[in-house]
Amino acid sequence: MTKKIALLGSTGSIGTQTLQVIDEHPELFEVEALAAGSNIELVLKQIHQFRPSKVSVASREAAESLKAQVPAGTKVYYGEEGLVEIAAGTQADTVVTAVTGSMGLPATLAAIDEGKTIALANKETLVTAGHIVMQRAADKNVAILPVDSEHSAIFQCLNGEPRERLHSLTLTASGGSFRHLSREQLRDVTVEDALKHPNWSMGAKITIDSATMVNKGLEVIEAHWLFGLGYEEINVLLHPESIIHSFVEFTDTSIIAQLGNPDMRVPIQYALTYPDRASLNAKRLSLAEVAQLNFRKMDFDRFPCLRMAYECGRMGGTAPTVFNAANEVAVARFLRREISFLQIEDTLEKVMQRHEVIAHPDLDTIREADTWARRIAAE
Ligand code: NDP
Ligand code: MG
Repeated sequence: MTKKIALLGSTGSIGTQTLQVIDEHPELFEVEALAAGSNIELVLKQIHQFRPSKVSVASREAAESLKAQVPAGTKVYYGEEGLVEIAAGTQADTVVTAVTGSMGLPATLAAIDEGKTIALANKETLVTAGHIVMQRAADKNVAILPVDSEHSAIFQCLNGEPRERLHSLTLTASGGSFRHLSREQLRDVTVEDALKHPNWSMGAKITIDSATMVNKGLEVIEAHWLFGLGYEEINVLLHPESIIHSFVEFTDTSIIAQLGNPDMRVPIQYALTYPDRASLNAKRLSLAEVAQLNFRKMDFDRFPCLRMAYECGRMGGTAPTVFNAANEVAVARFLRREISFLQIEDTLEKVMQRHEVIAHPDLDTIREADTWARRIAAE
C-alpha cells in the first residue's frame, strides 16, 4: 500500500525536495493534495506530474486562473481555508507542513484533528503555539515527525533509547552567511550577501534566519517541544561544515550523533518512511574526503538573537509567539530593503521589551499576540 501525502508549500525549497523524494519512490508514496502560494506555473507542472485530487493556492485570482488549466476532477481551493482543506480534507495519511511562518498553524491543527501524521518542516508552528500543538497531537495520538535536519538527527539518535537516560541534546549551527564577519562588519551587509548560505540552499526567510541565528533560536524552542527537554538541557554548537547534523548525550556520557552531507532530502525522506528507511539517490558522505570537522563554542554576544530566543523560550507563554511574529515581519522588511540587517535584531529587542507576557495562552490569545507583534514590528 502506498502512503498518501498532502503537501503544504509544494513550490518551496522543502516542497520541491519532498516531491523529488516522492518521485523517486512511486511504490511507496502517492500525492493526494498540494498547496502552494503564488507560483502558478510550477504548481501546474506539479499537478500534471503528480495528479493530486485537491489543490490550493494563496489567492482567489490565482485559483481562477488555475481552474482553467487543471485536469478534469482536480478540485481547486484558495486562501487560508484552502490550506486547511488540503491539510485535513483528503484521504492523506501524512501531511508535510512546508509553508513558512505561523500561518501554518491552523492547517497543522486541522490535520492533527483528522488524525493525520505530521511531517513537520514549518517550525514556526511549534514556536508560536508549541503547548497547544503538542497537547492536541497527544490527545489525538498523532505523531509529529521532524523534517528539520537537526531535529531529524536527534530523533534518529534517540531511536530505541530510554528517554530517562537522556542527559542533553546539542543542535549544531553552521553560522549562516555572515559567520566570518564581526558585528562591526554586519552594519553594511546587503540582502544579496545574506541570501548566500554557505552549506544549504533554502527559502529566503530561513536563509536570513540562519544569518541572524534566529533560525537556531527557533530550533531550540522546536526541540523543547518535540523532545520535552528543559532549555538548560538544549545546547547549540557552531559547526561550520554541517556534517554532524546534531547529537545527544546520555547519562553514561556516551554521545550519539547523526552525520551526512547537507541534503534536506535525507530528513524529508526519513519522516516519510519512518520507522523504515528507503534508498536515496544522494551523494554518500566520505569522511576521508571531508578530512576535518570544526567546532566552536556559541558566542551569544555575536549572535544576540539566539540569546533572545532562549530567553523567550524560558519565559514561555506568549513570549515565543511574539518573538516569532516580530521576526517574520522584520525579515520581510529586510528582504524589501526597508530596514538594515542589524535592524532585524533591534526590532526583536524593541518588540520584546514592550510585550507583557501572558502565561498559558489559548489559541485566541496566541492570535492576538501574533497580530500585536506584527503591528509593532511594522512601525
Ligand atoms: P520557501 O519560501 O522556499 O517555500 C514556502 C512555500 O510556502 C512555497 O511553496 C510558497 O508558495 C508557500 N506559500 C507561501 N504563501 C502561501 C500561502 N498563503 N498559502 C499556501 N502556501 C503558501 O520556504 P522553505 O521551503 O525554505 O521553508 C518552509 C518551512 O520549512 C519553513 O518553516 C522553514 O523554516 C522550514 N525549513 C526549511 C528548510 C530548508 O532547507 N528550506 C530546512 C528546515 C526547515 P509560492 O512559492 O508558490 O508562493
Ligand atoms: Mg534546521
